[in-house]
Amino acid sequence: MANGDDERIARMLHARDGLAPGDPIAPPIVPASAYHLPGDPAASPFQYGRFHNPSWDAAEHALAILEDAPVVSFPSGMAAIAAVLHTRLRAGDKVLLPSDGYYTTRALAEKFLGPLGVSFDLRATRDFLEGGFKGYRLVWVETPSNPGLDVCDIAAVAAAAHAEGAVVAVDNTTMTPLGQRPLDLGADLVVAADTKAPGGHADVLFGHVASRDKAMLDAVRDWRKLGGAIPGPFEAWLVHRGLETLELRFERMCANALEIARRLAVHKATRSVRHPGLGNDPSNAIARKQMAKFGSLIGVEFADADAAERFIACRYVRPSTSFGSVHTSAERRARWGDAVAPGYVRLSVGCEPLEALWKAMEEALG
Ligand SMILES: *Cc1c(COP(=O)(O)O)cnc(C)c1O
Repeated sequence: MANGDDERIARMLHARDGLAPGDPIAPPIVPASAYHLPGDPAASPFQYGRFHNPSWDAAEHALAILEDAPVVSFPSGMAAIAAVLHTRLRAGDKVLLPSDGYYTTRALAEKFLGPLGVSFDLRATRDFLEGGFKGYRLVWVETPSNPGLDVCDIAAVAAAAHAEGAVVAVDNTTMTPLGQRPLDLGADLVVAADTKAPGGHADVLFGHVASRDKAMLDAVRDWRKLGGAIPGPFEAWLVHRGLETLELRFERMCANALEIARRLAVHKATRSVRHPGLGNDPSNAIARKQMAKFGSLIGVEFADADAAERFIACRYVRPSTSFGSVHTSAERRARWGDAVAPGYVRLSVGCEPLEALWKAMEEALG
């Protein structure tokens, strides 16, 4: 029998119903700042380009089917994250952030929330349940963390944080709704950068917030409408198109990543390999419990920066600072100041046929 994901994916692919003869199968790109708006504005589904757009609706509808929750889309992952932080937090509030999560979220809190009277604490993802959640208005989870690939138990964090009256948001970028379902595990809000696997071709930035709490999502939608951080219709169309092949791509990427992690782990050129799917990885037990797949990211430590750069020069690895694309890519995160060893490489495995990719990697490993 088809599982829940199968049903959601099939439903997403056939979400555009009510078509008339001659209508395009794919949703149109609708560039519009103004709409025909006679008489009572409330009688029109579209009023002004900062409030609504049919191309956003198509992308949001597809994402909402995958998330099993209403979605508000944004022009980047960070715009989605900023929307949640600014709508949930007030002067005097405290937020708990992962010390090893996406750096820009911490930078945003430090530079712009601090001066507004919102304080934050940092905690390592691996120890996220230790120390409790008393006194936090918002608890921010990122699992697996980027770039270290540590995990924490979302259901346990949500239960403990809710018991202290905190709201729980999960940055689900590394997993997508096909790899991990934080709302089903008790989170109040999910944010994600669709810039990564959902877009999937290194050609678009996009983000979204999903929530089953109407008041929380209404606030996020008002933030977008009033703050003006709106996605472009072409970007929304690209993400809609990407979502239609996400399952196929993510399946290949995750299968490739698991096999490459296994091979790198026993290769003499590597010092250590992190991937939640490896049986001896510290993340493996929780990953098995809460993730449907183990993701497309691998952490590989080489002896030093030079050895790492030689690997990144592999002819089928793109040196770049994003992940989740059809093209395998990698970078040394220490070049951005992340708290990792100089020889630590975050490897994002793409959709290349496995043996061609591995052959190229073996050559680069010397
Ligand atoms: C890339 C990323 C973001 C930010 O997304 P942008 O689209 O670049 O703004 C946020 N969180 C995580 C975990 C990411 O990897």
